[in-house]
Amino acid sequence: MSDTDTRDPTSLRTPIVAVLGHVDHGKTSLLDKIRGSAVIEGEAGAITQHIGATAVPLDIISTIAGELVDPDDFDLPGLLFIDTPGHHSFTTLRSRGGALADIAILVVDVNDGFQPQTLEALDILRRSETPFIVAANKIDTVPGWNANEDSPINDTYEAQSDRVRGRLDESLYEIIGNLSDEGFSADLYWRVQNFQRNVGVVPVSAMTGEGVPDLLTVMMGLSQRYMKEEMEIDVAGPGVGTVLEVKEEKGFGTTVDTVLYDGTIRSDDRIVVGGQNEPIVTDVRALLQPRPLAEIRTESRFEKVDEVSAASGIKVAAPELADAMAGAPVRVVRDRDLDAVIDEVQAELADIAVDTAEEG
Ligand code: GDP
Repeated sequence: MSDTDTRDPTSLRTPIVAVLGHVDHGKTSLLDKIRGSAVIEGEAGAITQHIGATAVPLDIISTIAGELVDPDDFDLPGLLFIDTPGHHSFTTLRSRGGALADIAILVVDVNDGFQPQTLEALDILRRSETPFIVAANKIDTVPGWNANEDSPINDTYEAQSDRVRGRLDESLYEIIGNLSDEGFSADLYWRVQNFQRNVGVVPVSAMTGEGVPDLLTVMMGLSQRYMKEEMEIDVAGPGVGTVLEVKEEKGFGTTVDTVLYDGTIRSDDRIVVGGQNEPIVTDVRALLQPRPLAEIRTESRFEKVDEVSAASGIKVAAPELADAMAGAPVRVVRDRDLDAVIDEVQAELADIAVDTAEEG
């Protein structure tokens, strides 16, 4: 920044959200639903598809959530959902020794209840100390359920028969009991006062959208209340991120899909990326974002951008990336000492190696 620049250098970034859960419990459907609702509710372009992530801005959340959210109560800019489901990616996706995700949604099928991968996910969330809420999904499959598309949970719950309500309650209390067996004190989200101490359970349907307003509201509220300080970043500073995936792209060679969680990366930056053997020092050749759907047929799937700021998902094309690793750090050098940045990346790689060994 120049001497004359009077902008406030710190800014609040979007919290990064991961969705976890047993296979088939509805992780993908839930993300699709959130994305779909946001597209329907939003002005064109309001929701942005990033590389490996979807950004849902606050005003869209507030439109979906209706009276549940007053945008004036929030100053965080929205939520960034990481698209890659699966625990393995979650455990390897770290930032500075913690989990890359600031917050998580654990999806549990209300009928199927706790399953092996639910327990694995809980274990990961516990070890990484990631705050989370439970989405008790597929409430529309409770026998006799009367669907009310996209409705807040209270409204649709009130509209069910006693018998249906009783069935849902039973499933929900079983999930709460299972969480308690695992050492997590949990309750239905509207009864939770302190989300740091208790896990909130939100009944939802990824199919009908019921409860999705509540889910977004709780995620937003939780972030705002407990994570605001962690979201304060130096936006203009050298970018820091984590590699989601290493991919070959026609015309660009090896690229790294990266979630940036601090600072800015520019298309002329020198970066250090964690590699299988040692840190890779390279110069960005292009920063790539997905091109809007309508333009894809004629041109490349990607469009080049000059810079991106955290939090966001971006594809970085650069030479020498063949040895880059998913989960490894990406750091912009800019005006810092190159050796110092290499040391930081090296230290982070050593952390990853220890964690991987512990997982056995
Ligand atoms: P994932 O493996 O956790 O990503 O699960 P998917 O999102 O692929 O969902 C698995 C199956 O459950 C698919 O057939 C979905 O259509 C279905 N499904 C997901 N959520 C719901 C829901 O809320 N209600 C109903 N009825 N089906 C759902």
